[in-house]
Formats: sequence, C-alpha cells, structure tokens
Amino acid sequence: MTERALIWFRRDLRLRDNRALVEAATADEVLPVYVFDPTQYGTVEFGGHHSFTYQKTGPFRAQFIREAVTCLRSELNQLWCTLAVRTGDPATILSELAEEYEITAVYAHTYPTPEEQEVEQRVEKKLNEQGVSFERFWGHTLYHPEELPMEIAEMPDTYTPFRQEVEANAVVRKPLKRPSLPPHVEIAPGKIPSLEALGLSQPPHSDRAAVTFSGGEQAGLDRLDEYIWKADALKEYKETRNGLLGRDYSSKFSPWINHGCLSPRYIHAEVKRYETERIANDSTYWLLFELLWRDFFQFQFEKYGSKFFHRGGIRERTIAWQEDPTAFERWKAGKTGIPFVDAGMRELNQTGYLSNRARQIVASFLANDLRIDWRKGAAYFEERLIDHDPAVNYGNWAYIAGVGNDSRDRAFDILWQADRYDPEGEYVAQWIPELRSLPPEKRHRPWEWTTTGDDKPHASETDYPQPLIDISE
Ligand SMILES: Cc1cc2nc3c(=O)[nH]c(=O)nc-3n(C[C@H](O)[C@H](O)[C@H](O)COP(=O)(O)OP(=O)(O)OC[C@H]3O[C@@H](n4cnc5c(N)ncnc54)[C@H](O)[C@@H]3O)c2cc1C
Repeated sequence: MTERALIWFRRDLRLRDNRALVEAATADEVLPVYVFDPTQYGTVEFGGHHSFTYQKTGPFRAQFIREAVTCLRSELNQLWCTLAVRTGDPATILSELAEEYEITAVYAHTYPTPEEQEVEQRVEKKLNEQGVSFERFWGHTLYHPEELPMEIAEMPDTYTPFRQEVEANAVVRKPLKRPSLPPHVEIAPGKIPSLEALGLSQPPHSDRAAVTFSGGEQAGLDRLDEYIWKADALKEYKETRNGLLGRDYSSKFSPWINHGCLSPRYIHAEVKRYETERIANDSTYWLLFELLWRDFFQFQFEKYGSKFFHRGGIRERTIAWQEDPTAFERWKAGKTGIPFVDAGMRELNQTGYLSNRARQIVASFLANDLRIDWRKGAAYFEERLIDHDPAVNYGNWAYIAGVGNDSRDRAFDILWQADRYDPEGEYVAQWIPELRSLPPEKRHRPWEWTTTGDDKPHASETDYPQPLIDISE
C-alpha cells in the first residue's frame, strides 16, 4: 500500500532540524499543509468584571507568520513540492484532506500549552475515527524531554536547580539535516490570506525599530549569520544583553525561534562552532543559558498546563489585584506619565518587539505598582508581540507578578532601573518625542520639572501626562 504522509506545519516553519518533516519524508508521497486557524485571529475577550478585548494575534505577528509561510512555500517549491495553505478549523481541514487524498498518517510537532493541546486532541480524535494515524513529535526546545535527567512531573519549579541538573546530565541533540522529499501529492496550493482577510490592518512602520523582522527560515538564518558571525556580537552578549537601543545588544532571534524558523538546536550548534572557531567565554555560554530559560517554561507548561493561566498562578497566591480600567488603558498606550514605562510600551506598540529589560520594567509596573491583574498585561503582550510564545510570555509575566516560578519579590524599582539602564535618558528620548527637548537628567522625572522662572517647559512637554502614581519612594 502506498504510504501517503501529510505534514502539518505549525510553529515549525522551517526545513532544517524539523523532525516531523524528516519522519514524513520517509513515506512514498508527501503532502505539506499549513492551516490559518481563524480562532487565532480576531478579537477575544478577557473575562471578568472589567473585561477588555484584545486581538489574539495582532498585525505584527500575523504579518510575520504570513511571510514565514510564504518563505516555506517557496523553499518547498524549489524542491518541486507544493505547500497547501488552507483557512479554517485545523481538525476539520486535516480530516477532509486526509479523506480526499487518501492520507495514511499525519505528522506534526506537539506543543505543551493548553490551546495547542486542545487542537491536537481534536485533530487526533477525528483522524483516528478515519483510521488515519497522527504522529506527534516534540521539537521546539534545546533539550528533548527524553534527554532530561528527570521526569517532567518531578522537575524543579525554580530555574537554578533545573539548569544545574540539566547542564550536568543532559546533552543537546544534533540538529537534523534538511531531508530530501519523496514525490508530493498534486493539490491546489490555496491562498495565503491577506491581513485584511484575517481581520487586521497593516502594522505601523517605525524608522526607529531596532530590527525589521521578516518571517521565514532564510531571514532567520540571515539574522543568525549577521549577529553571530558578521557583527561578531556574541562574544559580548552577556555585557550588552540588558541594552535598550540598537540591533546587536541582543540576538533578536526570538521571533524566528517562536515561529520555528530557527531551531534552538541549530542555534546551539552555531554557538558551539563559534566557540571553536572564535572564542568561548561567559557570553557564548549566556546565550545558551537564556535558551534554557525558554526550555524551562516549556517544560513547566508540560507540568502544570492551564494552571499557569490562573490569577494566583501555579503557587495559588492570593493578591489583592485592583480593577482600574483607566490606568490599564494608559499603560497600554504608553501614557502613564512614567517615562521609562511609557517608552517601553510605545516601542512595543510601534514595533511588536521589546528588549528583555524593558519587558520586565513595563510588566513589573503593571503587576507590582498598579497591581492590575498580570494576565491582562500578558494578554496585551500576546496581541502585540511578534515573538509571542504562550509558555514564555505567561511564564515570565507570572514570574514577575510573584505568582510563578520564584518565591522572591520581583518588584522593580522603576526609577532605579531607569538611572541604571538608561542613564542619559536616550531610550526615553527615542520613544517619547514630547520629552526629547528635556536635558538628560530630567527625562526620567519630568514631574520634578519646575515651571517657574526662565525654566519654562517646552510646549510639547506639557502634552506629556502627569504620573499615574507616585513611584519616587
Ligand atoms: C513579561 C515578559 C514577557 C515575555 N514574553 C516573551 C514571549 O512571548 N516570547 C519570547 O520569546 N520571549 C519572551 N520574553 C523573554 C525575553 O524578553 C525575550 O525572549 C527576548 O527579549 C527576545 O529578544 P532576543 O531574541 O534578542 O533575546 P536574547 O537576549 O538574545 O536571548 C536569546 C533567546 O533566549 C530566549 N530568552 C531570552 N530571555 C528569556 C526569558 N526571560 N525567558 C525565556 N526565554 C528567554 C529567547 O528565545 C531569546 O530569543 C518575555 C519576557 C518578559 C519579562
């Protein structure tokens, strides 16, 4: 009997180091498919008394996904293979395609987060009812769960002991090569939906964006080549990673990693090559240390599932969260009157990206200073971020809000952070034009600005709001 494999691409939009593809390629014929799932687009409501609505996938990420699917389609075309693109419920579409094209098995990657799991279960149920097998593979982390020195159910809930055990006792598998593909099934390619068709408008363009992210494996490989090899920036990563401005203070790999255009194992292999050919130091180690943080949250979601989305988090903490829709709107818009926070939110709104330092600042302000339900902040990040990953986003938010993987108080002193990480107020000047004319020492505390004597405020500075709360002490 002819074996016909359907490979269902999800957040693994690459040909290199793609286990599901490698497995599917052993069949006699292959049918690659990508499904735009309408439930991942459009407006959703964050429930509760003071509910708010947000876009499940905002225009920046949707555009990146469209580009990544376009890139995958053209790479497959070069191998004489058609990527079928469909829009609808994945379970229904995959089941119909399986029926129509006499598919014997569907291959895909699996993800630990609840929504992804829910879809997988529905896909599996439908396919199994048709007698089609559904083969799932874990392939989005640095370490494969089978290589972990502990059962996931037993993994530590804090990072350091997890990291130490993994570093001492586990190895990272070598990335898989791009497979050669068997003949493909003849099929109508289907259209990649426009942003409009997904209910979205074009994302804004900002000349000030640190990097213009374009989706796809090739763009991801180009960025890797640029950051690690051409700019030779990896050797300083540990010193620069808390930066706020510019292309190379950090790798900017996250959008490609989270849509699967770059595999963490491939990055690991390149870091190891760099260590052999150029230099091995704390910085080269630290990039892998950060990638292991990402693994940590993936495995934590495998352990705790939807408990991560509870207001009290996995630690079931009771915190007196406040309902303050006006403050929340001002936070979203970058109009809290606290320049360091507002600069971050405006960068996020205008580019779909934010440095790790600025993410921590804006998240801590919402959760620890305003005491607004951290999940609302996480939901807003979900809308805006190009690199959104449910485990990493909600895991980091819970951590900062004190309901996640750390028992320490994670509240940031925003002004202390501002003086330390943006001593000249350059970041504030970049994103808050109203404050650009202020001298550097006044940019983080415009409320201390005197309106008397010769020191009259510039007209635009008066447009900048008064602080929502007093954070000076
Ligand atoms: C509140 C909050 C929400 C976040 N949401 C996301 C998210 O949705 N998606 C996402 O990829 N990252 C998220 N992060 C983590 C981190 O901010 C980004 O991964 C990083 O800023 C991306 O830029 P980079 O690729 O240049 O990172 P680099 O500093 O170059 O790090 C390299 C890689 O390591 C991983 N990494 C770095 N920091 C972390 C971290 N704190 N936790 C887990 N993995 C990390 C990422 O894959 C990153 O691409 C969040 C952090 C915070 C504080």
